[in-house]
Amino acid sequence: MISGYQSEILKEYEEIRSIENKNLKERIKEIKDKHPEIMEIDDEIKKLSVKLPLLILKSTTTEEDVEKLRDKIFDLRAKKLEALVSKGYSPEYLTIHYRCKKCSDTGYIGTKRCECFKDKLIKLHYKDSNLQSILSKYNFNDFDLSLFPNKTDPSYPTQKFTPFENMQRIYDFIVSQYIPNFNRTDVNLLFSGAAGTGKTFLSYCIAKELLDRGYLVVYKTADELIRILADIRFNKNQNLDDLITNCDLLIIDDLGSEQITEFSKTEFFNLLNKKLLLGKKMLISTNLVADDLDDRYDRRTSSRLIGNFKFMRFYTYDLRIEKKRRLNMRNRK
Ligand SMILES: [Zn+2]
Repeated sequence: MISGYQSEILKEYEEIRSIENKNLKERIKEIKDKHPEIMEIDDEIKKLSVKLPLLILKSTTTEEDVEKLRDKIFDLRAKKLEALVSKGYSPEYLTIHYRCKKCSDTGYIGTKRCECFKDKLIKLHYKDSNLQSILSKYNFNDFDLSLFPNKTDPSYPTQKFTPFENMQRIYDFIVSQYIPNFNRTDVNLLFSGAAGTGKTFLSYCIAKELLDRGYLVVYKTADELIRILADIRFNKNQNLDDLITNCDLLIIDDLGSEQITEFSKTEFFNLLNKKLLLGKKMLISTNLVADDLDDRYDRRTSSRLIGNFKFMRFYTYDLRIEKKRRLNMRNRK
């Protein structure tokens, strides 16, 4: 987990507990003012509850004495609830209200994190992913393989697979190997292909699936990434450095579209190198092919990309054109 998340979430629990304590105090005050007789029963319960352990410890106490006191407390509790309900209040009006009853708003059940802690972490991940608004529209169910033609693409006469077969192989790898084994794999992915061949769509689907499984996925276009690297370098932005370096998956979209300078080349190489050394996973998509990478970046960068990433080639007719073509055909019918 990124440092800072733990304390941010624990602080949130603290706030919830303090709000609920305050609410309870107000409810108690209200009952005290309006129905003091109910609070008198409550005071009596408290007094007897303090007596109970003392009684148990005393050597002269019999089991019957303890039982008697227990019964008395039990009866008073019932009397209090009855009184509350008869005045139109809920039986829980004078107890603290937990938003999560499982962990009493502490985030932990014993030493294990409660489900509600995980939900809060996912929310924080979404906030930091850069994808919050986009991802509601993308998931694997909407990934339409039939958009990829199952015949050889005339622009790529040398391809072994049709665009459909190729995409199916990529899709199957992602869905049945990459995602289920995400925490065990150190595979980095390099999606290469022309615009409109499904790279970004598939990246979004992967991001959503992993975020929903509790991983921290951060999405940046190459252009944004270079600006962030400058911010980290010149403004010593530690939080951003931590996020970019230690997230579970960093997605860099459209590598090669950024303005390439000596600074961007060096910083990109440094990031790549650091993440590879730390075993932190990346998914890079680019319109460039392997030879272009060599021209665009320096040798050491392209050799890291080619040597340490699983290269996946995307090709088809432009999907956006294909979608339009289908729409037109449907309208003509
Ligand atoms: Zn909980």
